[in-house]
Amino acid sequence: MQNIGIVGSGQMGSGIAYVCSLAGFNVWLHDISMDRINAGLDSIKTNMMRQVEKGIVSHREGSAALECIKPAFSYQDLSTCDLVIEAATENEEVKRKILTSLCQSLRPDAILATNTSSISITRLAAFTDRPERFIGIHFMNPVPVMQLVELIRGIATEDPTYESAKEFIGKLGKTSTVSEDFPAFIVNRILLPMINEAIYTLYEGVGSVEAIDTAMRLGANHPMGPLQLADLIGLDTCLSIMQVLYEGLADSKYRPCPLLVKHVEAGWLGRKTKRGFYDYRGEKPVPTR
Ligand code: NAD
Repeated sequence: MQNIGIVGSGQMGSGIAYVCSLAGFNVWLHDISMDRINAGLDSIKTNMMRQVEKGIVSHREGSAALECIKPAFSYQDLSTCDLVIEAATENEEVKRKILTSLCQSLRPDAILATNTSSISITRLAAFTDRPERFIGIHFMNPVPVMQLVELIRGIATEDPTYESAKEFIGKLGKTSTVSEDFPAFIVNRILLPMINEAIYTLYEGVGSVEAIDTAMRLGANHPMGPLQLADLIGLDTCLSIMQVLYEGLADSKYRPCPLLVKHVEAGWLGRKTKRGFYDYRGEKPVPTR
């Protein structure tokens, strides 16, 4: 594997491009518009410069990596890729449209992966022309920092696809675990209900944003509070995952908190829109409740 395509240049797509380029892969980054692609490329550059300043990445490595990332204006630009990772918005309809049309431009032997946080790999595979070469490669956020990648096989995923994906993750210097194809897999099956419960705790007035986050940071030794984490993940993504859990497992304990729904309806999606459970428009994040 040498050429990697990424569809979706948001926080995950650009993070995946970043680690792939540092590992020496050629990367093509695609999104719905040139503006979105440029936003992804800009955030990769900023992050790379920060790592160079901190001395984590050498100047030479950093510039060589940046040169490996190119914009893909259309799916046709992904036609030489050995592996394409779909990392677009967490919405099954969006992913269905991408996967259906993307396949027509790919090499027949290319592996197609999705970075979905929760949606059935088997169902997404059925939208493609290659369920045997389709797999879930679930990176964690922020991609450059987090060590784990979950690998999820659909019912039709063949062994060589799984082995190639595992080898690819190894080349990125990351550790993979295997999860069965159940709603939200392992990490988010456990993490998201906790975040949703933190939002209920806020909704019911048990504590303020600051109290809830401080309680979990200092009381449970979590590196960041659940509401801070929700803002980092993106509240639209959190809501989509809870909906997949709620519908996929048909259990009322996964009911998304109405306050989470309200934030998404307001377009307050967390850090990416500068407003969520914290307001990020000033110098320091300010709790909103
Ligand atoms: P994001 O909102 O930051 O970025 C999504 C990107 O997808 C946007 O740039 C958007 O323009 C693009 N997009 C939408 N429709 C598209 C289309 N038809 N073609 C190409 N691009 C399109 O979201 P994100 O946080 O980067 O999440 C992306 C995926 O990664 C989701 O499936 C999400 O569940 C998964 N994921 C997210 C996290 C997290 O913490 N945010 C962690 C692991 C996995």
